[in-house]
Amino acid sequence: MLCPNCFIEYVEVTFDCEIDGVVLHDVKALKCPRCQEEVFSPEQQQEIQKRACI
Ligand SMILES: [Zn+2]
Repeated sequence: MLCPNCFIEYVEVTFDCEIDGVVLHDVKALKCPRCQEEVFSPEQQQEIQKRACI
């Protein structure tokens, strides 16, 4: 995926995030190395929803 602002390929990053009080470790997202914008790919969104039991 490309960042729509910079036209640079996002790089995959891993971090811990908290959703509704549930802490998820090693959550993967895509981050633009230039503007630092973070996005989730559809697969990553599914993974998060599965793990957060939303
Ligand atoms: Zn960008």
